[in-house]
Amino acid sequence: MRKLASIQRISKLEHIEGADSIEKATVLGWQLVVKKDEFKEGDLCVYCEIDSILPERPEFEFLKSRKMRIRTIKLRGQISQGICFTLSILPEDVVIEEGKDVTEILDITKYEPPIPANLEGIAKGRFPSFIPKTDEPRVQVVQDILDKYKNETFFYTEKLDGSSATYYFNDGRFGVCSRNLELLETEENTLWKLARLYKIEKKLKSLNRNIAIQGEIIGEFVQGNKYKLTGQDIFFFNAYDIDKHKFLNLDEFITFLKELELKTVPVLETNYKLSNNIEELVELATGKSVLNDIQREGIVLRPVKEIVDNTGRISFKAINPKFLLKYDE
Ligand code: AMP
Ligand code: MN
Repeated sequence: MRKLASIQRISKLEHIEGADSIEKATVLGWQLVVKKDEFKEGDLCVYCEIDSILPERPEFEFLKSRKMRIRTIKLRGQISQGICFTLSILPEDVVIEEGKDVTEILDITKYEPPIPANLEGIAKGRFPSFIPKTDEPRVQVVQDILDKYKNETFFYTEKLDGSSATYYFNDGRFGVCSRNLELLETEENTLWKLARLYKIEKKLKSLNRNIAIQGEIIGEFVQGNKYKLTGQDIFFFNAYDIDKHKFLNLDEFITFLKELELKTVPVLETNYKLSNNIEELVELATGKSVLNDIQREGIVLRPVKEIVDNTGRISFKAINPKFLLKYDE
């Protein structure tokens, strides 16, 4: 599971114009508001990321009206993402070490948007082990990666706020999966409906190779249909060669999807020299969606030539703070 809560150093504390009871703290690549004089610059704290669901404990009581979920908020004009607690919220026997994951120790879980009935379907089995599940780390926690790949050529696509779907053809078998499960074919299930609409089984089969494609479903009944579509649609962001255990490079991916007559997520820029400045990347994520006149959720950045290193596939998301504030996330 992802590190939602960890012991981190407050690298910076700054004054907020016009505020005297709060100040702005920097932890990892995050900026957040803390109570004045609760911390000093350089102090260790327990930092909890947005989308953490905290357990019901007296110290966390203030989150009750917000369903115990940490969200992006704005205080005195300052965007605040996450919460810093003093180390005293940890059990006494915990060894204090910078970077230590305390998610489980504190019984913190990740908020997952509810999967609507039309997408949930009926489970046929677990998500196949021969395909990576879809997921993207946040830019705020990948400073090391940014430093390592600074100035490399990256591309970025619009991140769509929907629900992920995986379609595969492997050893003669076609499969349809939601984020965590393989699904049985039914009349009503949206993932299967889209598979039939776009003839995905026939198209993948004709390739004579073991392959998976992954995309985001948006539209009616999905995440509040922010894009105001009629019905649902799917936009692909991955093609994975199952035998080679490799994602296709950008150029191969685009040609591949074009040949299959399937849509990709909006490709916004294909010649971006990666910055290692998190604020700059968050700024890059800010903007309108290509699909409708609304704030986009953000962007997903990847090297133009796929890279897999000891941390895994190089790919991460930068979320648009205006989107988070607008939709109370
Ligand atoms: P999150 O939605 O915050 O869990 O971020 C990761 C998810 O974003 C992935 O699992 C995908 O389902 C989804 N996603 C939406 N748009 C894109 C995109 N352009 N590139 C990659 N993933 C995307
Ligand atoms: Mn999402």
